[in-house]
Amino acid sequence: MTELKKYFAVIGNPIHHSLSPQIHSAFAKEAGLHINYEAVLSPLDEFKNTIHKLIEKKLSGANVTLPFKKEAYELASQHSSHAKIAEAVNTLEFKDDQIIGHNTDGIGLVRDLEQNLNVDLKSKKILLIGAGGAAEGVIYSILEKEPSELTLTNRTIKKSNVIQNKMEMHAKSFNMNLNVIEITKLPHQYFDLIINATSAGINNTELGIDHKVFHDSSLAYDMMYDKKTSFIREAQSQGSKTSDGLGMLVEQAAEAFFIWHQIKPKTKSLIKSLREL
Ligand code: NDP
Repeated sequence: MTELKKYFAVIGNPIHHSLSPQIHSAFAKEAGLHINYEAVLSPLDEFKNTIHKLIEKKLSGANVTLPFKKEAYELASQHSSHAKIAEAVNTLEFKDDQIIGHNTDGIGLVRDLEQNLNVDLKSKKILLIGAGGAAEGVIYSILEKEPSELTLTNRTIKKSNVIQNKMEMHAKSFNMNLNVIEITKLPHQYFDLIINATSAGINNTELGIDHKVFHDSSLAYDMMYDKKTSFIREAQSQGSKTSDGLGMLVEQAAEAFFIWHQIKPKTKSLIKSLREL
């Protein structure tokens, strides 16, 4: 009798650009698993129905991307600690009639920085630009690493204040130095690591940060991975080291793969081959 392939999907809108099917198929091949993983476009107001239709087709797990991470959080009946704090879910696990929501973005970012880029976050001065789902998804994982300072900024600064208040509630046990600064006041600070968690690069719009923020000993990290953004160009013009978010994408997928299959896939060679593509 032929073995029934387990079924997984990534759900978003748009979804044609997603590298997740390629990444999970490569992990599965390396692990000797036979899975079926496909990209599913959900109509904007139909996320819940889309998931329920997929559950009828025996979906074992799903990745969730823009703009459904909040809806996935609401749909889940149980949450991992990181998903609970972010109030957003990028990985769903379907087990014994339960829907378990996880958020692997923070783990993905930290692993890419520490293991692939050799950046130790402990005692570093870090700037996080943006206050959308991606920033909210990674901030707790950054704080867990005990940087000496984490500064938040965003075009709409009130949203950074909201995240700061939330972290003061959730991350009480960490030795935390968390500030919020207006974008225009940034040039007077030094940062070891500057993370762009905005979507400004999607439309090629400028972030509006002064080039003096970048130093030749800083690392500028853009979560976007499919184009060279003005953030990266500006950082390079000031001599900073730079990285895009392709490693984060693969590492967050590796954590999702571990949740579903209890197997830790190797990531470095896949990041290299995707970058070459
Ligand atoms: P959201 O829509 O939730 O948030 C967008 C953020 O970008 C907000 O802070 C918004 O500011 C800011 N922004 C948008 N346009 C501009 C602009 N022109 N100037 C300044 N700020 C701007 O998106 P997400 O947080 O979910 O995603 C952000 C980015 O992170 C995307 O590019 C996404 O692809 C990437 N990402 C990468 C991942 C990876 O694995 N590599 C994982 C998750 C996300 P305001 O609040 O003022 O509107």
